[in-house]
Amino acid sequence: MSDCLFCKIAKKKIPSSIIYEDDSVLAFLDINPKTKGHTVIIPKEHSENILTIKKESWVHLTQVIPKIARAVVKASDSDGFNLKVNNGESAGQEIMHTHVHVIPRKKEDHYVASGHVSYGDDNEKMSYLEDIKSTLDKS
Ligand code: AMP
Repeated sequence: MSDCLFCKIAKKKIPSSIIYEDDSVLAFLDINPKTKGHTVIIPKEHSENILTIKKESWVHLTQVIPKIARAVVKASDSDGFNLKVNNGESAGQEIMHTHVHVIPRKKEDHYVASGHVSYGDDNEKMSYLEDIKSTLDKS
């Protein structure tokens, strides 16, 4: 869809901090992370949510999740992660393009469902980006 933000990210019409890409999936750092390393995984092809995504796209996306989550958790020195999929406005979906949140977690990370944390600066963000990407490359 031409006016969809995540379609524009998928087509590289607007920049994002990409950590993983294949033919049909893109994963990038969330611009307003709930915790540091918070990653969003999207199918490149537009669909509104998991009720309308093509079955094969959803199956492929879910197969990629463990690989990305493992790298996100390891690179952010976390103990676990929340996997979150908001479907529909009432469920908190703001971007109407199917996506899965991978939110790395540590004990006492003060994660709250609303609000977000900030990276100290762009260097810290880039360091998360590079660490996750290099951890992915080694997996
Ligand atoms: P949801 O509320 O499930 O629709 O989540 C949408 C997510 O997309 C939010 O966590 C936003 O912070 C994130 N987001 C919005 N714009 C961008 C962007 N340009 N780059 C990366 N993440 C974004």
